[in-house]
Amino acid sequence: MVSERMKGLGTARSVIRELFEYGKLRAAQVGAENVYDFSLGNPSVPAPAAVNETAIRLLTEQGDQIHCYTSAQGDQGARQRFADSLNRRFGAHYTADQFYITVGAAASLCCVFNGLACPGDEFVVFAPYFPEYQVFIEGAGARMVLIPPEIEGFQIDFAAFEAAVGPHTKGVVVNSPNNPSGVVYSRETLERLADVLTRKSREYGHPIYLISDEPYREIVYPGFQVPWIPHIYRDTIVCYSFSKSLSLPGERLGYVLVPGDITDAGDVYAAVAGAGRSLGYVNAPSLFQQVTSLCCDLTSDLKVYEENRNLLVTSLREMGYHVVEPGGAFYLFPRTLEADDMAFSERAKQFDLLVVPGSGFGAPGHVRISYCVQTDMIRRALPKFKELADSYR
Ligand code: PLP
Repeated sequence: MVSERMKGLGTARSVIRELFEYGKLRAAQVGAENVYDFSLGNPSVPAPAAVNETAIRLLTEQGDQIHCYTSAQGDQGARQRFADSLNRRFGAHYTADQFYITVGAAASLCCVFNGLACPGDEFVVFAPYFPEYQVFIEGAGARMVLIPPEIEGFQIDFAAFEAAVGPHTKGVVVNSPNNPSGVVYSRETLERLADVLTRKSREYGHPIYLISDEPYREIVYPGFQVPWIPHIYRDTIVCYSFSKSLSLPGERLGYVLVPGDITDAGDVYAAVAGAGRSLGYVNAPSLFQQVTSLCCDLTSDLKVYEENRNLLVTSLREMGYHVVEPGGAFYLFPRTLEADDMAFSERAKQFDLLVVPGSGFGAPGHVRISYCVQTDMIRRALPKFKELADSYR
């Protein structure tokens, strides 16, 4: 006998993985250059040279210590550098003891959900959303409450949101810049969200935490700004990761920031740490705690994402696709040319275009295009997107 839930999670491949595997098979048949794979969110630009140089220097200079266990919450010096960096950038006053270093944003989220969830608790999520939220929230024994998408601009449907927040709401998750829409929440949206949360927290007599999942914080395009959310809503917990900003998804490094002024900050921090312990994380990779904290003011060269975005948005719109302009991240979420996004994704395969149906992100009628790919592949794919559009005329 095994856990049916875990067996299900272990055997059901995500739609994204299915597409990726299909792409590999198809590449073997028709040649890799003839398959246009927009399925995965794997950064296509290398980490800055300073990352590798720092890693090599640390391995050379601290070879005897760098592989050791660190404190469970992460090395004190690394946490201090993360705090200093945010303080410089956002005029904040964070301290090292408010940071809990994790194996990436996925672990940050798991630590927060497990740390906060009491029996019967709910976490509100806005569609379109990163599908693993459901796995993480349910894994913490809580319930995910999904708010349907506001498809004109992928901001927030406030009427639906207000109706969904209730006495069991423990937290609300935001992800801006967003996977899969690429949309950045405006300051106005965030201030309105903060007003609702302040009012509802008072009404229900307990804090409703805002969990800001921000692995794409640094990937923002001209004309857009990502406001620092803890300055807009006090009870914010930040989940961060260097997977995208420094192109280090395989190294597994991120953090949870529990600002000292949130309600019950000491208890929340202790619960996050306790969750990390119960999940068996022990500590985040020692070498990359040092590397990321020494390089945390840098990013990979993000220009290619901007070039890819501009090329795709302009070209797809010219072909008649409806696209909400993405302000950040490296995803585009156009409307499909038929209501059924699964059928559209299947039809796209006939042109060797691999795009992910929006249903899995809670937003049917759309597909996700990950444009963290070579610009040349996008150029070669454009005639295929045109043929796909023409096939609907
Ligand atoms: N949150 C969002 C919105 C993501 O897109 C991802 C990864 O793609 C994660 C969290 C997990 O990131 P990490 O690799 O840091 O665990």
